[in-house]
Amino acid sequence: MMGQGSPEVVEGGCHCGAVRYRVTIRKRDAVQCNCSICSKKGFVHLIVREPDFELLRGADALTTYTFGTHTAKHHFCKHCGIHSYYRPRSHPDRIDVNVRCLEGVDPSDFHLSAFDGQHWEENVEELRRRQRESQ
Ligand SMILES: [Zn+2]
Repeated sequence: MMGQGSPEVVEGGCHCGAVRYRVTIRKRDAVQCNCSICSKKGFVHLIVREPDFELLRGADALTTYTFGTHTAKHHFCKHCGIHSYYRPRSHPDRIDVNVRCLEGVDPSDFHLSAFDGQHWEENVEELRRRQRESQ
C-alpha cells in the first residue's frame, strides 16, 4: 500500500505555469465527486490541511467562481483556465488540490473513493469523518 510511509512533498499547478504550489501528501487517498461542477471539471480531490499547502506563485493569476451557497471558492487560473486547487465547501478550513495537476503523480496510484455530491447534504458528514481518519 502506498502512502503509509513518510509524507511526500510534490509541486503542482495550472497549465500555463502562472499558478504554482507545493503540497505535502500524507496519505494517497483521494475523492471523486459526481456533483454538477466536479464531474465537469474531472477534479480528483486531495484535501489537505493549510500547513500542508504552500502557494509558490500565482495569487494574482487566480480568479474565483462561486455558486449556490458560495462557500466553496473555485479558484482557477485566469490565463489558462485550469482549476488546480480550491477551497471546498465540505472543508472551508482546508485546501482541496486537484491530483491531476500534481507533477509526477498518477491519480491511479491513489486510493480513490466516491463522494455522492449530487446528494451533498446527506453525505457530507461521512466525507468529513473519512477525512479525519486520512490526512
Ligand atoms: Zn495558468
